[in-house]
Parts: sequence; structure tokens; C-alpha cells
Amino acid sequence: MEYKYDKMSPKAEEFINDREIWDTIAYAKANKDNRELIDSLLGRAADCRGLSHREAAVLLECEIPEVNEAVKSLAREIKNKLYGSRIVMFAPLYLSNYCVNGCTYCPYHHYNGHIRRKKLTQEEIRQEVIALQDMGHKRLAVESGEDPANNPIEYILESIRTIYSIRHKNGAIRRVNVNIAATTVENYRKLKEVGIGTYILFQETYHKENYERLHPTGPKHDYAYHTEAMDRAMEGGIDDVGIGVLFGLEMYRYDFIGLLMHAEHLEAYKGVGPHTISVPRVCPADDIDKADFDNAVSDEIFEKIVALIRIAVPYTGMIISTRESRASRERVLELGISQISGGSRTSVGGYVKEEELDENSAQFDVSDRRSLDEVVDWLLRLGYVPSFCTACYREGRTGDRFMTLLKSGQISNCCHPNALMTLKEYLVDYASEETRKRGEALIGKELANIPNSTVRQRAAEYIGQIEEGRRDFRF
Ligand code: SF4
Ligand code: SF4
Repeated sequence: MEYKYDKMSPKAEEFINDREIWDTIAYAKANKDNRELIDSLLGRAADCRGLSHREAAVLLECEIPEVNEAVKSLAREIKNKLYGSRIVMFAPLYLSNYCVNGCTYCPYHHYNGHIRRKKLTQEEIRQEVIALQDMGHKRLAVESGEDPANNPIEYILESIRTIYSIRHKNGAIRRVNVNIAATTVENYRKLKEVGIGTYILFQETYHKENYERLHPTGPKHDYAYHTEAMDRAMEGGIDDVGIGVLFGLEMYRYDFIGLLMHAEHLEAYKGVGPHTISVPRVCPADDIDKADFDNAVSDEIFEKIVALIRIAVPYTGMIISTRESRASRERVLELGISQISGGSRTSVGGYVKEEELDENSAQFDVSDRRSLDEVVDWLLRLGYVPSFCTACYREGRTGDRFMTLLKSGQISNCCHPNALMTLKEYLVDYASEETRKRGEALIGKELANIPNSTVRQRAAEYIGQIEEGRRDFRF
């Protein structure tokens, strides 16, 4: 059947149109040395108005060294203008690694007989959450394999209720994002009702044939059902959705263009683009043959992809996980990353009991194995403000309400004080002495950077009250 490109179409093969992606690649190759076009794109993008998939593809293809430098410097500028020095912290929480799918790049795949299968009970979830609260986390991303018998939606919903209900010392999980398999509008509605933050689902790859080959069995094999999941999630009332591809599975150019087309589709069809874009790269894990993935994305290309996403969709948050090493995370932070995980365990039950070598229930190897306190201290040393803020979701600033505020520039009167207040909570309740000292000094300095004087004064008062034991202030 012949499909035509239409970003307003509800059909996966029309809004992620194969022909359009190949035409875009050809257009990018033909224009990769077109300085007039390239300079005009960079000039326009500087106003934070974003770029189309075709325009961003030209910049990705261009190999002129000074253009690559200009791309990075523009990404830094936009990052700084819209997100300042704040980096939002979160941690993944793995509920179950039972999975009926056959994804060839994931050790949880159904046919992996030597991985230990585990599903947390509600009591075990309680223990994991207490361990996460004791580290200082306020924002989680719940992860689970797809298995209607072992992990039905009722289990996921009950687990989210358990997570929100736990209060340990001054700890609380204030936002639960969810990364579970594509599901029905009805199930998305249930997730909305239980109060999730962002619904996250990675596309892995937008190339249909490769997608089907990498997902040979199980419900995830259905490309259209998976690709149209975000439309169903939004129909079910979820305002904030997070997309991403697994860079290194197949051709990065194709997936980069597909990712931007997906963002354009959500904006055109649902009126609001993705809340976040994640940029995971394939990494080693149990029962995964590295030779299967010879498309590994180099550090250089990876950095350029991050910079170009920042430029193309300036208002979409960008997430990086502990798959990446400290050095790699450091390089991309300044180019556009706004959220990172810290102190992560990628095994089921890993926060209470760290994985023994022979147990092996982790989804992927963690490159950055530092504790949350070490990650916070590292960010402070680099001049960033680690933020545990969850205010927007709790104030009902989601979807287009969030985007409107962000685009008006007013968010800087919320994000910055909220970051400083939640950092203060972290420092008082959980930080090591050294981190606390460094953090207090930064808060003192950064308070002056809150643009609105009334907000600035109130933030300073609240920070004083946090010192005295009060918690959970927000703008
Ligand atoms: Fe299951 Fe997700 Fe792993 Fe695929 S990627 S095998 S769906 S856990
Ligand atoms: Fe995120 Fe909103 Fe907090 Fe800013 S105020 S950091 S946008 S939750």
C-alpha cells in the first residue's frame, strides 16, 4: 500500500513516513555544504523557534567544522536561556522483569533463560521506595516488562499508589513517571487517574522493517500499535508524554529524523509536543550479542544529536541515563540535557539489595555507578543546580499549560526558586557535609538570579524555613 506523509494523520506509517525520511536524507546530503541555507537555519533557530525535521537533518549531515562548532554553541545558548543551570534529578525503579516480548537488544526478553526473573511485592516496593527516599529522591520513573499475566495494569496501578503513599522521615515521592509497554486508551486513562507524571515509551527505532526484525515476537512486534501509543495516551488524558529512540540500534540519521517527525506529529495532531526526549545509546547487557549492533553512535555524533535536538525542539526536556559514563554525561549536559538519573540501580529490587554478580537481573550495565550524593556534588562543582522539583505536575501545569508558561519565559520565576528550595531540602536531609557546604554556597549565590524581586524574597524566606524543619514549598 502506498502511504503519503501527513503529520496530522493518526496512522503511524503516514506521520512517520518512510518515503519522507529517505527524501529528507537525500535533501540533507544535497544541502550539506549549502552555507547560505545553513547560516539562515542557525540564524532562525537562535530565536528558540525550533527547526523542522528537514532543516535539522541538513545540520546533522553538514561536516563543516565551524558549522559544527556553531551548532554546539547555539545549543549551549538555548539551553542556558530556557533551562539555566538547573538539572532535574530522578531515579528509575524496576518493578518486574517478566516480559513476553522478544526484543533482541534487551536481556529481559522472553527467551533469556538465565536471567533471574523477579517481580516486587508491594512490601518490597515499600522497601525500595524507602531506600530511594533515604537517598533524597523525589521523582521516580517506574519501569516494567510487558507481561499481562505477571504485570497486569492493576499491578502497575497498585504499585504507583503504594509509591505515593510512603512517607519516611522527611521523604516523599512527589512525581511518578511511568515507562511501560504500549497499551489501550482505557489503561492510559487509569494511569492518569492514579496520578502519573509523564508517560514514557521509547520507539527504539522508527524504521519499520528493522523494528519488526528487532522485535520478532510478542505484542511489541506491532509497529503501528507501538508508534501510535502516544496518541492513545493523550486520548486517555495524559498530557505529558516522553519519547526516545535507542541510538545505535540502526541508522541514526533515520531515527533522528523519525524522532523529530514524531514530535511534529504530536504538536500538530494533539496540540502539544513531547514533554521529554530521552537519548539512550545501546550498551552491553546479559545475553546480548554486541556484534548485532554494529551501528554504534560515536561520541562525536551523539553530542551533535543532543545539540540538534536542543535546537530543533527547544521546549522539550532532554533526559540522559546512567548508561552513559560520567565523562559522556558531562559533555552533553551543557549541550541540552535537562534531566539525569543519579545513584541508579537497573535491577529489580536493586536499591535494597545490590545485585550479586551471579544473580543478574539488571536491564543494562550502569556506566555511571556513583551515589546520588556524589552525582549532586559533581553537578555543584560543575556549577549546575541539582533540582528535585516536581512543582508543575503538582500545580496542574501539564501539557499545553506547561508549554504556554515555558514559552512565555515565566517559568524561570518558578523553576529557579523551586530548584533552590528542593536542593535546600536535599542538603538539610540527605547530603554529606562536603556536598552540603558546596550546595549552601551555591544557593546563596543563585538566589540573586531569580528575576522577580517578590519571588526572590519569598524564596529566601522559604529557604530559611526549610532550615527550621518545614518542607514542600513551591511556586
Ligand atoms: Fe521487554 Fe521492554 Fe526488554 Fe523489550 S525492551 S524485552 S519489552 S523489558
Ligand atoms: Fe520542572 Fe516545573 Fe519544576 Fe520547572 S517548576 S523544574 S518545569 S517541575
